[in-house]
Amino acid sequence: MNTRSSHRLLIGIVAAIALAFLGITLFGPRMAAFAWMGTLFLKALKMLIIPLVVSSMVVGITSLGDVRRLGRVGLLTLGYYTATTGIAVGLGILFVNLIRPGAGMPLDNLVVPERVEGKEVLGAQDLILSFVSDNIVKSMAEMDVLPVIVFSLLLGGILTTMEERGRPVIAFFEALNEAVMKMVHLLMYLVPFGVFGLVAGRFADTGDLLRAATALGKYMGTVLAGLAVHGLVVLPLLLWLFGRRSPLRYLGNMGAALLTAFSTASSSATLPLTIQCAEEKNGVSKRSAYFVLPLGATVNMDGTALYEAVAAIFIAQAVGMTLGMEQQVIIFLTATLAAIGAAGIPEAGLVTMVIVLRAVGLPLEGIGLILAVDWLLDRFRTTINVWGDAVGAAIVDRVATDGKWMPAAAPEVKPVHSG
Ligand code: ASP
Repeated sequence: MNTRSSHRLLIGIVAAIALAFLGITLFGPRMAAFAWMGTLFLKALKMLIIPLVVSSMVVGITSLGDVRRLGRVGLLTLGYYTATTGIAVGLGILFVNLIRPGAGMPLDNLVVPERVEGKEVLGAQDLILSFVSDNIVKSMAEMDVLPVIVFSLLLGGILTTMEERGRPVIAFFEALNEAVMKMVHLLMYLVPFGVFGLVAGRFADTGDLLRAATALGKYMGTVLAGLAVHGLVVLPLLLWLFGRRSPLRYLGNMGAALLTAFSTASSSATLPLTIQCAEEKNGVSKRSAYFVLPLGATVNMDGTALYEAVAAIFIAQAVGMTLGMEQQVIIFLTATLAAIGAAGIPEAGLVTMVIVLRAVGLPLEGIGLILAVDWLLDRFRTTINVWGDAVGAAIVDRVATDGKWMPAAAPEVKPVHSG
């Protein structure tokens, strides 16, 4: 897709959103009649996730040439994920302590929401266990992406050690990947219609939201302010410093993916577009994009991490519990864990918040306080989640490979330190 058609696409998506809101103003909840268009789009996106994750991870790993390179790219990627998630949680904790949105909240009729009740607490061991599947086919069928990623990484890594015999299989995955990306191209034509349907379907009846937003305005403002600083200041700054790219241009090229993230509230469903925009429009190399983005869509969630911290401390303020330094540190750590553990699907973060609340002894009923506006905040945090992955791909690309597609034997080009 060339620049002109990508601009046209972006204009199409923005027009679709505007049209959907115009329709809602004129026709109200009747606009929900268009929801099927959104469902169709979402199904088409989800259909591509598993073939895309498997083929792109295998191609990403095998294109590193030498498996030893994996160490460098892998470490950098993990370092980026950890650092940015940490900054996001820190920002969340800072904002919620400054603004104190929970002070004086009325606490009537609190109950633990059905979706959260009965959820086992996810601990550190569960997180480790969730990396490996006892049945990879079942994991694929259930779209349990993390073990599929681990499996594909191993498969790709082993294939590179098999020399001649591994080649046909690698060629197979390369062709599969190319074909799936062509399907993503086809899907791009559907994006404006899909986004229109998703917005019309979800925002058509927002009576409840308006009522809740008045009561929870300060809380929403705190989350949104934190997300804005992270997404519009911290990440662009990192992109500029370490990725050596113009943040505005990079952001513009990611537009279709970011608006899709907002419309679907799912990092995983957005993945096909995230890869397409990063690789084809922003020119991030295959091996960086294919490594950083699928993994990031499941484990790197800056927006979710920030929100988990704000929400937990907001609940503490509302129930009148004072959190000491030690407990805030526990929130810092568990919010990070909760964000890693959250799947890239709508409102997954709401459920994994149980980890944070339990760790500091906060009542699970507190989740009931923020439930009514969660679906809306979810869209904003998902957008930041995807933006964080996209920025990571550019940074890893630049720092690990200096942006060049190097043959395995070529000497490594490192950023030169002065002195
Ligand atoms: N919906 C988010 C995502 O897919 C996860 C969450 O915070 O609920 O990235």
